Amino acid sequence: FKRVDLNRKSKDELVEMGETFNHMIDLLETNFEKQEQFVSNASHELKTPLTIIESYASLLRRRGQQESDIFIESVEAIQSESVRMRELTEQLLFMAKHNEHWNIKKSRVNLFDIVLQSIKSFQNAYQREIELNRVENLWIYTDEQKLKQLLFIILDNARKYSEDLISVVLGKENNQLYIQIIDRGIGIPETDQNKIFDRFYRVDKARNRKQGGTGLGLPIAKEIADAIGAKINLSSVEKIGTTVTIYLPIDEKSD
Ligand code: ADP
Repeated sequence: FKRVDLNRKSKDELVEMGETFNHMIDLLETNFEKQEQFVSNASHELKTPLTIIESYASLLRRRGQQESDIFIESVEAIQSESVRMRELTEQLLFMAKHNEHWNIKKSRVNLFDIVLQSIKSFQNAYQREIELNRVENLWIYTDEQKLKQLLFIILDNARKYSEDLISVVLGKENNQLYIQIIDRGIGIPETDQNKIFDRFYRVDKARNRKQGGTGLGLPIAKEIADAIGAKINLSSVEKIGTTVTIYLPIDEKSD
């Protein structure tokens, strides 16, 4: 046997290795706890609409044939809770699919065209008035589909939490392009503003149940932004409205 000589240097190395190892275990544990938390939150969020559907189905069965208002109320509730469940499942699948694997396909695109297309397809789904400033020659090297998904989430929030005109402003600032989505809606209380990017966080669950939120929109938006190198900035004043700005870095391929 060759005697292993634990001289000072190798002892230091062992200590260092031990520390790295401990740090790795800590990281794994934190990740595991986060996963557990996520699964538990997801199950809880899916259970709520299911319970509501179940109880309305039972009410419908007992009294739906005789009482027409109960019939209408139950059918409407079952329908809206099913929509919620579908949205939630779609978002959960999106998160699971993109957990580590983002298939980014960048190309040089005209920002005005991309945003206009997004607004048009959004307006096909929801009849909402949206204004957009016309700007020529804003070229960006980005993943068009991911940017459109990101825009859709922000526009959808503007739609859910406001009733008036939504404005979209495009521009160039320093070395980046920006897309600003401005709504004149209920706004977000200051104390909640640093939490709304957390998974499943909703400002007021009662207020949001009517709007059908899941609390996964903004976290997904943030993940998409990270994947395409964009930054999201949100500023909001209660009862005045919310402005979300998406910053896109210009690189040599954009020009
Ligand atoms: P949700 O599906 O509930 O809309 P999000 O993650 O997209 O989930 O948003 C988190 C919460 O932030 C929402 O529940 C809502 O309370 C608040 N919020 C997001 N966007 C806006 C907005 N434009 N105006 C007011 N509140 C907003």
